[in-house]
This record gives sequence, C-alpha cells and structure tokens, in this order.
Amino acid sequence: MPFAKLGLSSPLVKAITELGYKTPTPVQKQAIPAILSGKDLIATAQTGTGKTAAFVLPLLERFTKAGTLRGKRIRVLILVPTRELAVQVESSVAQYAKHTKLTSMAVYGGVDTEVQKERLIEGVDILVATPGRLLDLAHQRALHFDELKVMVLDEADRMVDMGFVGDINKIMERLPESRQNLLFSATMTDDVRALAFDFSDSKMTGLA
Ligand code: AMP
Repeated sequence: MPFAKLGLSSPLVKAITELGYKTPTPVQKQAIPAILSGKDLIATAQTGTGKTAAFVLPLLERFTKAGTLRGKRIRVLILVPTRELAVQVESSVAQYAKHTKLTSMAVYGGVDTEVQKERLIEGVDILVATPGRLLDLAHQRALHFDELKVMVLDEADRMVDMGFVGDINKIMERLPESRQNLLFSATMTDDVRALAFDFSDSKMTGLA
C-alpha cells in the first residue's frame, strides 16, 4: 500500500520517497489515518517500528494543509525523555518536512538557554523538547502555547521511569485544553495508563 493511500499529499510523499521508504510499516498503516482524523491516540510501539514517522507525517500533513501559519507560534509539542532522542526526532521532522514550509526545533537541557530563546523568537511550528528544559523556557516566557493544537508524549514509559510525570503534568496545565493528544510507549504499565488517563477522553484508540 503506497503512502499516498493513507492520506499523505505530495510534499510528504516526495520527502519519504527520497528517504527510500517504499511501503508504510504496520504502526504507520494504523496510526496515520487515526491521527489525520484528529483523534487522541495511545499506541504501544517499540523503537525501530517506524513510530516517529507514524506520528510526524500525519501532523505535518494536517498543518501543511491548514495553511494557518499566522505568527509562527508552536502548533505541535513533542515531549521526549532524553536529549539524544530530542535531536533524533527533530532531525526526522526536518527531513519529512523538507518540502513544506513548516519549521522545527529541538530544546533540551545541558546547553545555553539564550541561543534556544533567540531561535524561539523567530518562531517554530513543531517543537521537540525534554520536559525540564521546556518548563525552564516556559517560566522565562520564551514559549507561547496559545496556538498549540497537538501534544505528543514519545517513549512515555521512559519518561515515567525517569521521574518526569510531575513535569509533564505542569506542562499540560499550560497548554490549551482543546488539543489532540498522542502517546507512544514501548510498554503499557499502570503508570503510563494513568498518564494517558490524565489527558485523554473517550476518543482514545489503542493500537496493539
Ligand atoms: P523509529 O521506529 O521511528 O525509530 O524508526 C526506525 C527507522 O526506520 C528509522 O531509521 C526510519 O528512517 C526508518 N523508517 C521509518 N518508516 C519507514 C518505512 N516506511 N520504510 C522504511 N524505513 C522506514
């Protein structure tokens, strides 16, 4: 089944074809149409299954189409547990968004906040962040979430293990209530379920 059949348009199909992807992986086949429909989603997916593209591609599709690029405020927030993953996910976003006008950036701890703040002032559509640094920047009023439409928790089980539940809850308090929520986790523990329960409503769809 080609990617276009899943509802992705030419700027995205072109980018993934250039990367050599020929057919969607199982998680992509299930998640792409569900995310395009705007539903909340909780999915169990291991690293290596193509899960990054499974959530990034439909979100890019949605915001490329929307054409509502007023003001360059953050539309999508992707929370990840580590700096390494932030860099890796943002690099995938940039590759998939190559033929669109959407911009992305990663923010994480261990580097100077000033450089990150300068880039945030220029505006970014898709922000990939570790929870601690995101809260730091929010406290410094360097982030504006009034245009935020989607929040993604990637590797949610690792975020729970690393003690980020409190930070994630504080972040969610700052986001508009009306938004799409996506959660990806290698394992579905009670703690992860509780985190998902905090943000999801009856629109939840689970993937095996
Ligand atoms: P992830 O599970 O997101 O860490 O992705 C694992 C690897 O699979 C990455 O190197 C992706 O570039 C690659 N990948 C993702 N989707 C596809 C696909 N449909 N066809 C081929 N490779 C893919």
